[in-house]
Amino acid sequence: MATLSLKHLYKIYDNGTKAVNDFNLEIGENEFIVFVGPSGCGKSTTLRMIAGLEDITAGDFYIDGILANNLEPKDRDMAMVFQNYALYPHMSVYENMAFGLRIKHVPKDEIDSRIKDAAKILDIENQLAKKPKEMSGGQKQRVALGRAIVRKPKVFLLDEPLSNLDAKLRSSMRSEITRLHNVLGTTFIYVTHDQIEAMTMGTKIVVMEKGVIKQVDTPMNLYDYPANEFVAGFIGTPQMNFYKAKLHQEGEEIIISSSFKDVRTNLEAIKRIDILNIIKESNVVIGVRPEHIKICEEKDVNSIEAEIVVVEALGNESNIIVETLNGRTRFVIRTPRNDTYLVGQKIFISFDLSHVHIFDEDTQNTLLPRNQLTSTFKAKLVDDLHVEVLGKTFEITPYIKEALGENKELLVRINQSSIKEGKTFSLDFESKEKVGDLRIYCLKHAKEYLFYSSRDYIEGTVFEFDLRLSDLAFYDLKGNLLLDKFNPLNEVDGALEKARKELPVLSKSLIEEEVYEELKKNNFIGKGGKKLKAKIKKINVFNYKIFEKTVEPINNHIIKIYSLLGKRFAEHHIKFIIDANKINISEEGMFGGIVSKILDYIDEKYYFVQVDNKEILINAKETSFKEGETIKFDLINNEIGLIDTDFGVRII
Ligand code: ADP
Repeated sequence: MATLSLKHLYKIYDNGTKAVNDFNLEIGENEFIVFVGPSGCGKSTTLRMIAGLEDITAGDFYIDGILANNLEPKDRDMAMVFQNYALYPHMSVYENMAFGLRIKHVPKDEIDSRIKDAAKILDIENQLAKKPKEMSGGQKQRVALGRAIVRKPKVFLLDEPLSNLDAKLRSSMRSEITRLHNVLGTTFIYVTHDQIEAMTMGTKIVVMEKGVIKQVDTPMNLYDYPANEFVAGFIGTPQMNFYKAKLHQEGEEIIISSSFKDVRTNLEAIKRIDILNIIKESNVVIGVRPEHIKICEEKDVNSIEAEIVVVEALGNESNIIVETLNGRTRFVIRTPRNDTYLVGQKIFISFDLSHVHIFDEDTQNTLLPRNQLTSTFKAKLVDDLHVEVLGKTFEITPYIKEALGENKELLVRINQSSIKEGKTFSLDFESKEKVGDLRIYCLKHAKEYLFYSSRDYIEGTVFEFDLRLSDLAFYDLKGNLLLDKFNPLNEVDGALEKARKELPVLSKSLIEEEVYEELKKNNFIGKGGKKLKAKIKKINVFNYKIFEKTVEPINNHIIKIYSLLGKRFAEHHIKFIIDANKINISEEGMFGGIVSKILDYIDEKYYFVQVDNKEILINAKETSFKEGETIKFDLINNEIGLIDTDFGVRII
């Protein structure tokens, strides 16, 4: 068993294809992870990086907490099963399974007992003498699985293992592999383009598109709470119905208006929406699953006139395809078996409003996430330094007041991160849900909702809290932003400048100092008694150029950047990411600048500092400064992030 951690992984092939883009995933012991997505979305590339068959362009990959980017495939203790079985045709099933173990010098008896155990699990005990060509596709795939099982790996990697099998066999092998996972109790990572395989086998599914993770979730959460239009459309057959609409509010009703109908709903039915989207009358895409559309006899305020254009009878159920009379928008409706509907028939349809999905037309992300991170409420300026929201008054600062301008009526957007311990606010729990290891709490204020999540169970019927000023956003009543949530990350343009440095090198590659020290301790003797040519060499690398000053990167960062950019580093455009909270204030600091503005959030203070026409935000912690004063500071070398803007890769 093993835990794997993939942090900001990227893969850029030599021809420039960006196959994997900022992939982040934690894989726990004994999980069955499925990577699913259309062909070419980067599933196999990610799996191959995990296996060590493909170099990682940027990012960190850990096995059991140990950095494994450069670990040889054979040292990763993983077994891979491929679509084309990859069996040796001239060897018997037994020999195929024994081969890898013989190379590793596993004793003969042990090999024999492992093969027999695996053959039993896979029900191929009486096939061991056969050659692969005498076997069916399904049996061959069992042998390929057997060959993986006998190695007793920490992790099984399966790359579309069932794609060559016919539909019936695929379905039975699906349950076989699930059973195998239960019997072996090992981490499985399974790649497929087939959403049914993903839904039926995975404990956790990673949906990918164009090298990017679109959602990581349990099968049911993917279906019920798709995070974006892509996942919503990818999971489920027949596909979710989509149409363009706009949202606005009339009294207590929320109107979803489209070319064919104004559908009326209320906040109760779409609790998870942040009302800022309604106030701004956002353009949205509505998604309705085929089973959430009803055909009704009688007309009511929300029914839509439509005509049946196709009836697909599937036996136990039917898919009825209709077009709205207004606007001719198509919908697929799933109904229980029904023989009465006919093509050409005029009917009324209506949506189950507690199950509609609403996506932002621009970002394509859901506006109804299961764990809604933001909620917006009406607020009022009571006096220059106090705002009333959620029925309570809280203190603001002159800095915030200035941003609010003349606005007295406001909207305050509360991010979940702005909720902190305290007793100023108190709301009733509307519901408490457990989702994985997270608890999601729905809190109610008048007819509006606020969501909060935590790993802890919170007892009682009321929730008391305070708000962290820096994480609030303020808007005018039309939804125009007045002051955004504070972002402590500075993006500073910079460059890499040539420098010569002494660094540890093994053959022609830079290696980490810890690796060099380890080699040195073992007198530079590698596996198999080979003498390794590791030495400290003076080579051409680089320093950081930030605010026209030279900052020396730490060696491990040099290695990461160098392994991606090589000698081309000087040509690339670089942005540094500097966290305002990770800057050291010091009289002797190598950087200096003038405070141009103070961002005062009562218990947190940030300073905008002008350094040579550029600006940087600094949290001065204990020290306090006034506008016009000089702040001297140092950057913390190992905390500086770096983005290559040409590749679009966050290297550090
Ligand atoms: P999937 O497994 O999801 O079908 P892949 O990981 O195989 O996708 O491929 C992701 C992208 O990377 C595709 O655009 C593919 O064409 C490209 N790609 C895969 N292997 C290579 C390679 N060796 N060289 C260049 N491009 C590659």
